[in-house]
Amino acid sequence: MKIETKCLHEGYERKNGDPGALPIVQSTTYVFDSTQHIADLFDMPTECMYSRFANPTVDAVEKKIAALEGGVGAMCTTSGQAASLLSVLNLCKAGDSILAVSSLYGGTINLFAFSLKKLGIECIFVDPEADDAALEAAIRPDTRLVFGETLANPALNVFDIERFAKFAHAHRIPLIVDNTFPTPILCRPFEFGADIVVHSTTKYMDGHALQGGGVIVDSGKFDWANGNFPDFTEPDESYHGVVYTQAFGNMAYIIKARMQLMRDFGCYPAANSAFLLNLGLETLAVRMERYCKNALTVAEFLRTRTEDVESIAYPGLPGDKYYERAKKYLPDGCSGVISFSIKGGRERATRFMDALQLASREVHVADIRTCVLHPASMTHRQLTDEQLVAAGIDAGMIRLSVGLENVDDIIADLEQAFGA
Ligand SMILES: *Cc1c(COP(=O)(O)O)cnc(C)c1O
Repeated sequence: MKIETKCLHEGYERKNGDPGALPIVQSTTYVFDSTQHIADLFDMPTECMYSRFANPTVDAVEKKIAALEGGVGAMCTTSGQAASLLSVLNLCKAGDSILAVSSLYGGTINLFAFSLKKLGIECIFVDPEADDAALEAAIRPDTRLVFGETLANPALNVFDIERFAKFAHAHRIPLIVDNTFPTPILCRPFEFGADIVVHSTTKYMDGHALQGGGVIVDSGKFDWANGNFPDFTEPDESYHGVVYTQAFGNMAYIIKARMQLMRDFGCYPAANSAFLLNLGLETLAVRMERYCKNALTVAEFLRTRTEDVESIAYPGLPGDKYYERAKKYLPDGCSGVISFSIKGGRERATRFMDALQLASREVHVADIRTCVLHPASMTHRQLTDEQLVAAGIDAGMIRLSVGLENVDDIIADLEQAFGA
Protein backbone atom coordinates (compact mmCIF):
# COMPACT_ATOMS: atom_id res chain seq x y z
CA MET A 1 0.00 0.00 0.00
CA LYS A 2 1.07 3.59 -0.67
CA ILE A 3 1.23 5.92 2.32
CA GLU A 4 -2.14 7.64 1.65
CA THR A 5 -3.81 4.21 1.72
CA LYS A 6 -1.93 3.20 4.87
CA CYS A 7 -3.33 6.28 6.64
CA LEU A 8 -6.81 4.80 6.17
CA HIS A 9 -6.29 1.05 6.22
CA GLU A 10 -3.37 0.14 8.51
CA GLY A 11 -3.82 -0.67 12.20
CA TYR A 12 -7.43 -1.65 12.78
CA GLU A 13 -8.19 -4.97 11.12
CA ARG A 14 -11.90 -5.45 10.49
CA LYS A 15 -13.31 -8.94 10.45
CA ASN A 16 -16.74 -10.12 9.37
CA GLY A 17 -19.40 -8.05 11.16
CA ASP A 18 -16.95 -5.73 12.94
CA PRO A 19 -17.62 -1.98 13.29
CA GLY A 20 -16.47 -0.07 10.21
CA ALA A 21 -14.77 2.67 12.20
CA LEU A 22 -12.12 2.07 14.89
CA PRO A 23 -14.07 1.32 18.11
CA ILE A 24 -13.25 2.98 21.42
CA VAL A 25 -12.56 0.12 23.82
CA GLN A 26 -13.38 1.73 27.14
CA SER A 27 -12.16 -0.79 29.69
CA THR A 28 -9.27 -0.92 32.11
CA THR A 29 -8.94 -4.66 31.87
CA TYR A 30 -9.50 -7.78 29.72
CA VAL A 31 -10.71 -11.23 30.71
CA PHE A 32 -9.20 -14.59 29.83
CA ASP A 33 -10.32 -18.24 30.04
CA SER A 34 -7.35 -19.53 31.98
CA THR A 35 -4.66 -18.48 34.43
CA GLN A 36 -2.10 -20.03 32.13
CA HIS A 37 -3.18 -17.78 29.26
CA ILE A 38 -2.42 -14.69 31.35
CA ALA A 39 0.87 -16.19 32.56
CA ASP A 40 1.82 -16.75 28.90
CA LEU A 41 1.00 -13.12 28.10
CA PHE A 42 3.59 -12.02 30.64
CA ASP A 43 6.14 -13.97 28.61
CA MET A 44 4.94 -12.74 25.22
CA PRO A 45 2.63 -9.69 25.44
CA THR A 46 0.63 -10.28 22.24
CA GLU A 47 -2.74 -9.25 23.74
CA CYS A 48 -3.78 -6.35 25.97
CA MET A 49 -3.66 -7.14 29.68
CA TYR A 50 -4.06 -3.87 31.50
CA SER A 51 -4.69 -0.29 30.39
CA ARG A 52 -1.62 1.23 32.10
CA PHE A 53 0.38 -0.09 29.15
CA ALA A 54 -1.99 -1.53 26.52
CA ASN A 55 -5.45 -0.95 25.05
CA PRO A 56 -6.96 -2.25 21.76
CA THR A 57 -7.86 1.22 20.43
CA VAL A 58 -4.40 2.57 21.19
CA ASP A 59 -2.87 -0.63 19.82
CA ALA A 60 -4.53 -0.11 16.42
CA VAL A 61 -3.16 3.44 16.26
CA GLU A 62 0.30 2.24 17.26
CA LYS A 63 0.24 -0.30 14.42
CA LYS A 64 -0.83 2.38 11.97
CA ILE A 65 1.95 4.78 12.97
CA ALA A 66 4.54 1.98 12.88
CA ALA A 67 3.39 1.17 9.33
CA LEU A 68 3.53 4.83 8.26
CA GLU A 69 7.12 5.19 9.53
CA GLY A 70 8.17 1.76 8.26
CA GLY A 71 8.99 0.46 11.75
CA VAL A 72 8.40 -2.89 13.48
CA GLY A 73 6.44 -1.45 16.40
CA ALA A 74 5.31 1.69 18.18
CA MET A 75 4.18 2.79 21.63
CA CYS A 76 1.92 5.76 22.25
CA THR A 77 2.41 8.07 25.23
CA THR A 78 0.35 10.85 26.80
CA SER A 79 2.53 13.60 25.29
CA GLY A 80 5.45 14.22 22.98
CA GLN A 81 7.54 15.03 26.04
CA ALA A 82 6.79 11.61 27.52
CA ALA A 83 7.82 9.98 24.23
CA SER A 84 11.18 11.82 24.17
CA LEU A 85 11.78 11.00 27.85
CA LEU A 86 11.01 7.28 27.54
CA SER A 87 12.96 6.97 24.28
CA VAL A 88 16.06 8.06 26.23
CA LEU A 89 15.36 6.26 29.53
CA ASN A 90 14.99 3.00 27.58
CA LEU A 91 18.75 3.26 26.88
CA CYS A 92 20.26 5.29 29.73
CA LYS A 93 20.71 5.12 33.46
CA ALA A 94 22.37 7.51 35.92
CA GLY A 95 26.01 7.95 34.93
CA ASP A 96 25.35 7.69 31.18
CA SER A 97 25.34 10.61 28.77
CA ILE A 98 23.59 11.46 25.52
CA LEU A 99 24.59 13.64 22.59
CA ALA A 100 21.98 15.99 21.10
CA VAL A 101 22.10 18.73 18.49
CA SER A 102 21.40 22.20 19.87
CA SER A 103 18.57 23.07 17.47
CA LEU A 104 15.72 21.25 19.18
CA TYR A 105 12.24 22.06 20.39
CA GLY A 106 12.52 24.19 23.59
CA GLY A 107 10.73 21.58 25.72
CA THR A 108 13.25 18.94 24.65
CA ILE A 109 16.14 21.25 25.56
CA ASN A 110 14.62 21.72 29.04
CA LEU A 111 14.11 17.98 29.44
CA PHE A 112 17.64 17.10 28.35
CA ALA A 113 19.58 19.97 29.92
CA PHE A 114 17.81 20.14 33.28
CA SER A 115 15.48 17.27 34.16
CA LEU A 116 17.66 14.45 32.79
CA LYS A 117 20.63 15.98 34.56
CA LYS A 118 18.78 15.66 37.88
CA LEU A 119 18.38 11.95 37.06
CA GLY A 120 22.14 11.69 36.53
CA ILE A 121 22.07 11.63 32.73
CA GLU A 122 24.14 14.36 31.14
CA CYS A 123 23.37 15.79 27.71
CA ILE A 124 26.21 17.10 25.53
CA PHE A 125 24.83 19.57 22.96
CA VAL A 126 26.57 19.98 19.60
CA ASP A 127 26.01 22.37 16.72
CA PRO A 128 24.02 20.47 14.05
CA GLU A 129 26.53 21.70 11.45
CA ALA A 130 29.63 20.88 13.57
CA ASP A 131 32.51 19.36 11.61
CA ASP A 132 33.57 15.73 12.07
CA ALA A 133 36.33 16.58 14.52
CA ALA A 134 33.94 18.50 16.79
CA LEU A 135 31.45 15.62 16.70
CA GLU A 136 34.13 13.06 17.55
CA ALA A 137 35.34 15.26 20.42
CA ALA A 138 31.82 15.36 21.90
CA ILE A 139 31.46 11.56 22.11
CA ARG A 140 32.35 9.91 25.42
CA PRO A 141 32.66 6.25 26.41
CA ASP A 142 29.37 6.59 28.33
CA THR A 143 27.41 8.20 25.43
CA ARG A 144 24.39 5.98 24.77
CA LEU A 145 22.60 7.71 21.88
CA VAL A 146 22.48 10.64 19.47
CA PHE A 147 19.33 12.79 19.24
CA GLY A 148 18.19 15.22 16.52
CA GLU A 149 15.01 16.76 15.06
CA THR A 150 14.23 16.38 11.33
CA LEU A 151 12.86 19.91 10.95
CA ALA A 152 13.73 21.87 14.06
CA ASN A 153 10.97 23.71 15.91
CA PRO A 154 11.21 26.71 15.45
CA ALA A 155 14.58 27.29 13.70
CA LEU A 156 13.48 25.09 10.76
CA ASN A 157 16.94 23.83 9.95
CA VAL A 158 16.97 20.43 8.26
CA PHE A 159 18.84 17.79 10.23
CA ASP A 160 21.35 15.74 8.22
CA ILE A 161 19.91 12.38 9.31
CA GLU A 162 22.17 10.23 7.14
CA ARG A 163 25.35 11.88 8.38
CA PHE A 164 24.38 11.61 12.05
CA ALA A 165 23.20 8.00 11.61
CA LYS A 166 26.61 7.04 10.20
CA PHE A 167 28.34 8.90 13.01
CA ALA A 168 26.21 7.21 15.71
CA HIS A 169 26.64 3.77 14.16
CA ALA A 170 30.42 4.21 13.98
CA HIS A 171 30.22 4.48 17.78
CA ARG A 172 27.79 1.54 17.98
CA ILE A 173 24.99 3.68 19.41
CA PRO A 174 21.57 4.51 17.89
CA LEU A 175 20.22 7.70 16.36
CA ILE A 176 16.85 8.92 17.69
CA VAL A 177 15.01 11.47 15.54
CA ASP A 178 12.09 13.70 16.52
CA ASN A 179 10.03 13.69 13.30
CA THR A 180 7.11 15.80 14.55
CA PHE A 181 6.97 18.54 11.91
CA PRO A 182 7.42 16.48 8.72
CA THR A 183 5.31 13.51 9.91
CA PRO A 184 5.97 10.26 8.00
CA ILE A 185 4.12 11.80 5.03
CA LEU A 186 7.01 14.17 4.28
CA CYS A 187 9.99 12.27 5.73
CA ARG A 188 10.64 8.76 7.02
CA PRO A 189 13.91 8.94 8.99
CA PHE A 190 14.37 5.14 9.01
CA GLU A 191 15.00 5.33 5.25
CA PHE A 192 18.07 7.46 6.05
CA GLY A 193 19.44 5.25 8.81
CA ALA A 194 17.71 6.54 11.97
CA ASP A 195 16.98 3.78 14.51
CA ILE A 196 14.19 5.23 16.65
CA VAL A 197 11.66 7.95 15.80
CA VAL A 198 9.60 9.99 18.27
CA HIS A 199 6.69 12.34 17.62
CA SER A 200 4.53 14.81 19.40
CA THR A 201 1.23 13.56 17.91
CA THR A 202 -0.30 16.74 19.37
CA LYS A 203 0.78 18.54 16.19
CA TYR A 204 -0.03 17.54 12.57
CA MET A 205 -0.89 13.93 13.35
CA ASP A 206 -3.81 14.95 15.58
CA GLY A 207 -4.08 18.00 13.38
CA HIS A 208 -7.21 19.53 14.90
CA ALA A 209 -5.82 20.85 18.20
CA LEU A 210 -7.94 18.33 20.09
CA GLN A 211 -5.72 15.90 21.98
CA GLY A 212 -2.13 15.90 23.20
CA GLY A 213 -0.05 12.78 22.70
CA GLY A 214 3.24 11.26 21.66
CA VAL A 215 4.64 8.09 20.13
CA ILE A 216 7.91 6.15 19.95
CA VAL A 217 8.56 4.05 16.82
CA ASP A 218 11.19 1.32 16.57
CA SER A 219 12.88 0.57 13.22
CA GLY A 220 13.83 -2.89 14.50
CA LYS A 221 17.24 -2.51 12.88
CA PHE A 222 19.62 -1.61 15.68
CA ASP A 223 21.79 -4.39 17.13
CA TRP A 224 21.22 -4.06 20.88
CA ALA A 225 23.44 -7.10 21.48
CA ASN A 226 26.57 -5.25 20.31
CA GLY A 227 27.95 -5.11 23.86
CA ASN A 228 27.00 -1.51 24.57
CA PHE A 229 23.54 -2.21 26.01
CA PRO A 230 23.71 -4.77 28.83
CA ASP A 231 20.11 -3.97 29.89
CA PHE A 232 19.02 -5.67 26.67
CA THR A 233 21.24 -8.73 26.94
CA GLU A 234 21.21 -9.48 30.67
CA PRO A 235 18.18 -10.77 32.62
CA ASP A 236 15.75 -8.04 33.79
CA GLU A 237 15.04 -8.95 37.40
CA SER A 238 11.96 -6.72 37.41
CA TYR A 239 10.48 -8.81 34.58
CA HIS A 240 11.02 -12.43 35.73
CA GLY A 241 14.53 -12.55 34.30
CA VAL A 242 13.63 -11.80 30.68
CA VAL A 243 16.55 -11.13 28.32
CA TYR A 244 14.99 -8.68 25.84
CA THR A 245 17.12 -9.44 22.78
CA GLN A 246 16.60 -13.20 23.22
CA ALA A 247 12.90 -13.11 24.00
CA PHE A 248 11.80 -10.41 21.54
CA GLY A 249 14.39 -10.26 18.74
CA ASN A 250 14.08 -7.12 16.63
CA MET A 251 11.19 -5.87 18.82
CA ALA A 252 13.46 -5.76 21.91
CA TYR A 253 13.54 -1.95 22.18
CA ILE A 254 9.83 -1.27 21.85
CA ILE A 255 8.73 -4.19 24.05
CA LYS A 256 11.23 -3.19 26.74
CA ALA A 257 9.84 0.36 26.58
CA ARG A 258 6.34 -1.00 27.21
CA MET A 259 6.90 -3.86 29.64
CA GLN A 260 9.50 -2.06 31.74
CA LEU A 261 9.08 1.72 31.41
CA MET A 262 5.39 2.08 30.60
CA ARG A 263 4.60 -0.58 33.21
CA ASP A 264 6.49 1.44 35.82
CA PHE A 265 5.71 5.04 34.78
CA GLY A 266 2.23 4.59 33.30
CA CYS A 267 1.98 7.56 30.95
CA TYR A 268 -0.27 5.65 28.54
CA PRO A 269 -3.04 7.41 26.57
CA ALA A 270 -6.73 6.69 27.03
CA ALA A 271 -8.68 4.87 24.33
CA ASN A 272 -10.63 8.00 23.52
CA SER A 273 -7.39 9.94 22.95
CA ALA A 274 -6.22 7.32 20.47
CA PHE A 275 -9.59 7.41 18.71
CA LEU A 276 -9.19 11.17 18.15
CA LEU A 277 -5.59 10.71 17.00
CA ASN A 278 -6.76 8.11 14.50
CA LEU A 279 -9.24 10.58 12.98
CA GLY A 280 -6.33 12.95 12.38
CA LEU A 281 -4.15 10.21 10.93
CA GLU A 282 -6.83 9.18 8.43
CA THR A 283 -6.58 12.54 6.62
CA LEU A 284 -2.90 13.25 7.36
CA ALA A 285 -1.62 12.74 3.81
CA VAL A 286 -4.25 15.06 2.29
CA ARG A 287 -3.71 17.74 4.92
CA MET A 288 0.10 17.72 4.73
CA GLU A 289 -0.02 18.38 1.00
CA ARG A 290 -2.17 21.49 1.51
CA TYR A 291 -0.13 22.77 4.49
CA CYS A 292 3.00 22.62 2.33
CA LYS A 293 1.34 24.35 -0.62
CA ASN A 294 -0.14 27.15 1.52
CA ALA A 295 3.11 27.69 3.45
CA LEU A 296 5.21 27.95 0.30
CA THR A 297 2.83 30.60 -1.08
CA VAL A 298 2.98 32.53 2.21
CA ALA A 299 6.80 32.25 2.33
CA GLU A 300 6.98 33.65 -1.21
CA PHE A 301 4.74 36.53 -0.13
CA LEU A 302 6.91 37.26 2.93
CA ARG A 303 9.96 37.38 0.69
CA THR A 304 8.39 40.26 -1.23
CA ARG A 305 7.96 42.28 2.01
CA THR A 306 11.60 43.37 2.11
CA GLU A 307 10.75 46.60 3.98
CA ASP A 308 9.24 44.62 6.92
CA VAL A 309 10.91 41.23 6.97
CA GLU A 310 14.53 40.80 8.01
CA SER A 311 14.82 37.06 7.31
CA ILE A 312 12.70 34.00 6.55
CA ALA A 313 13.38 30.38 7.41
CA TYR A 314 11.42 27.96 5.25
CA PRO A 315 13.51 25.19 3.68
CA GLY A 316 11.07 24.81 0.80
CA LEU A 317 11.83 28.35 -0.40
CA PRO A 318 14.52 28.51 -3.10
CA GLY A 319 17.55 30.27 -1.65
CA ASP A 320 16.86 29.09 1.92
CA LYS A 321 20.02 27.92 3.69
CA TYR A 322 18.61 24.37 3.84
CA TYR A 323 16.91 24.30 0.43
CA GLU A 324 19.30 21.74 -1.08
CA ARG A 325 19.20 19.47 1.95
CA ALA A 326 15.40 19.70 2.07
CA LYS A 327 15.28 18.36 -1.51
CA LYS A 328 16.87 15.17 -0.19
CA TYR A 329 14.97 14.73 3.08
CA LEU A 330 11.71 16.58 2.36
CA PRO A 331 11.14 16.28 -1.38
CA ASP A 332 7.35 16.63 -1.11
CA GLY A 333 7.30 19.76 1.04
CA CYS A 334 8.48 21.30 4.29
CA SER A 335 5.27 21.41 6.40
CA GLY A 336 3.20 24.49 7.20
CA VAL A 337 5.58 26.15 9.64
CA ILE A 338 7.53 29.27 8.69
CA SER A 339 9.78 31.25 10.99
CA PHE A 340 10.51 34.85 10.06
CA SER A 341 12.07 37.85 11.73
CA ILE A 342 10.51 41.28 11.61
CA LYS A 343 12.69 44.35 11.23
CA GLY A 344 12.57 46.22 14.53
CA GLY A 345 13.03 43.22 16.83
CA ARG A 346 10.95 42.07 19.76
CA GLU A 347 8.75 45.17 20.11
CA ARG A 348 7.64 45.28 16.47
CA ALA A 349 7.19 41.51 16.36
CA THR A 350 4.71 41.57 19.22
CA ARG A 351 2.86 44.59 17.73
CA PHE A 352 2.54 42.72 14.44
CA MET A 353 1.23 39.62 16.21
CA ASP A 354 -1.33 41.61 18.20
CA ALA A 355 -2.66 43.14 14.95
CA LEU A 356 -3.46 39.76 13.35
CA GLN A 357 -7.18 39.07 13.01
CA LEU A 358 -7.48 35.68 11.30
CA ALA A 359 -4.32 34.05 12.68
CA SER A 360 -4.59 33.39 16.40
CA ARG A 361 -1.98 33.93 19.08
CA GLU A 362 -1.63 30.61 20.86
CA VAL A 363 0.82 28.17 22.41
CA HIS A 364 0.49 25.65 19.66
CA VAL A 365 1.81 24.85 16.21
CA ALA A 366 0.71 22.62 13.34
CA ASP A 367 -2.88 23.49 14.07
CA ILE A 368 -5.54 23.19 11.36
CA ARG A 369 -6.08 26.97 11.77
CA THR A 370 -3.33 29.52 11.17
CA CYS A 371 -1.62 30.53 14.40
CA VAL A 372 1.44 32.46 15.58
CA LEU A 373 3.81 32.32 18.52
CA HIS A 374 6.77 34.41 19.66
CA PRO A 375 9.46 31.86 20.70
CA ALA A 376 11.76 34.29 22.54
CA SER A 377 9.04 35.30 25.02
CA MET A 378 7.07 32.01 25.07
CA THR A 379 8.33 28.47 24.32
CA HIS A 380 12.01 29.42 24.56
CA ARG A 381 11.65 32.02 27.34
CA GLN A 382 13.93 30.04 29.67
CA LEU A 383 16.89 30.07 27.27
CA THR A 384 19.78 32.49 27.70
CA ASP A 385 20.67 34.73 24.74
CA GLU A 386 23.50 32.31 23.90
CA GLN A 387 21.18 29.30 23.95
CA LEU A 388 18.69 31.24 21.82
CA VAL A 389 21.36 31.77 19.17
CA ALA A 390 22.37 28.09 19.34
CA ALA A 391 18.72 27.11 18.87
CA GLY A 392 18.57 29.42 15.85
CA ILE A 393 16.20 31.97 17.41
CA ASP A 394 16.33 35.77 17.63
CA ALA A 395 14.15 38.21 19.55
CA GLY A 396 12.24 39.39 16.47
CA MET A 397 11.38 35.89 15.31
CA ILE A 398 7.77 34.89 14.79
CA ARG A 399 6.75 31.28 14.28
CA LEU A 400 3.89 31.24 11.82
CA SER A 401 1.96 28.01 11.51
CA VAL A 402 0.08 28.21 8.25
CA GLY A 403 -3.29 26.46 8.41
CA LEU A 404 -5.78 25.12 5.90
CA GLU A 405 -7.72 28.35 5.28
CA ASN A 406 -7.72 29.76 1.75
CA VAL A 407 -4.20 31.14 1.33
CA ASP A 408 -5.52 34.49 0.02
CA ASP A 409 -7.23 35.10 3.38
CA ILE A 410 -4.05 34.21 5.29
CA ILE A 411 -1.98 36.61 3.18
CA ALA A 412 -4.59 39.39 3.47
CA ASP A 413 -4.38 39.09 7.26
CA LEU A 414 -0.58 39.29 7.25
CA GLU A 415 -0.75 42.28 4.91
CA GLN A 416 -3.12 44.25 7.16
CA ALA A 417 -0.99 43.42 10.23
CA PHE A 418 2.16 44.72 8.48
CA GLY A 419 0.14 47.88 7.70
CA ALA A 420 -0.82 48.23 11.35
C1 LIG B 1 5.46 20.07 20.70
C2 LIG B 1 6.69 19.32 20.43
C3 LIG B 1 7.19 18.37 21.34
C4 LIG B 1 6.52 18.11 22.67
O1 LIG B 1 5.27 17.55 22.47
P1 LIG B 1 4.04 17.68 23.50
O2 LIG B 1 3.00 16.84 22.86
O3 LIG B 1 3.70 19.12 23.60
O4 LIG B 1 4.53 17.13 24.80
C5 LIG B 1 8.33 17.68 21.00
N1 LIG B 1 8.96 17.90 19.85
C6 LIG B 1 8.53 18.80 18.95
C7 LIG B 1 9.28 19.01 17.69
C8 LIG B 1 7.38 19.55 19.21
O5 LIG B 1 6.95 20.46 18.31
